[in-house]
Amino acid sequence: MLDPGHNGANAAHPKRINRQVDIGQGMRKACDTTGTATDSGYSESAYTLAVARETARILRRHGAEVVLTRESNGGVGPCITRRARIGNREQADAAVSIHADGGPAGGRGFHVIRPTRIEGLTDDIYADSRRLGRALRDAYEARTGLPRSTYLGTGLVARADLGGLRLSDVPKVFVETANMRNAADARKVESRKFRKRIARGIAEGVIDFLSP
Ligand SMILES: [Zn+2]
Repeated sequence: MLDPGHNGANAAHPKRINRQVDIGQGMRKACDTTGTATDSGYSESAYTLAVARETARILRRHGAEVVLTRESNGGVGPCITRRARIGNREQADAAVSIHADGGPAGGRGFHVIRPTRIEGLTDDIYADSRRLGRALRDAYEARTGLPRSTYLGTGLVARADLGGLRLSDVPKVFVETANMRNAADARKVESRKFRKRIARGIAEGVIDFLSP
């Protein structure tokens, strides 16, 4: 399951995307967010869809069945709860949410986010998600040559607050593929050719995870 973050019409529908949804054990969060953009106006939502489509093409060539959480960039949402449910419903062998970060302009690079261990929420997917995260980080780094996030000081972090991870019943990670607010990273994500490399890095990480 590939989950291209955000959606193109989110910004025009603040009421719908700011609606609070339940992400488990009493925590609530907005249904979805608008995402970031490069200085030249290339939106994260358009970018993540382009990368997800290319990643799906590569995985399908390798025989995988791939489901996306959205197929266009003209809609609103879906909410993070529904994005998680789609992977669960499909009983996906692996799920990846694709994003680009809105980090500090002086910082570069990518990072993968895996779930922390939360009893009753992520304990069932914790170990496999960690394995998926490591495989994705290593393949992505090797294929793209992008640095591990310079502003986080690491290419793999664990977070407890992401609904998409808390609600997943299948191995899942997020990948912040680059920092759109950094000029050097922005040039990379704006390049169609480099986006293919980004997609290849994600696909290879998933393939490595699925073929031990
Ligand atoms: Zn995002």
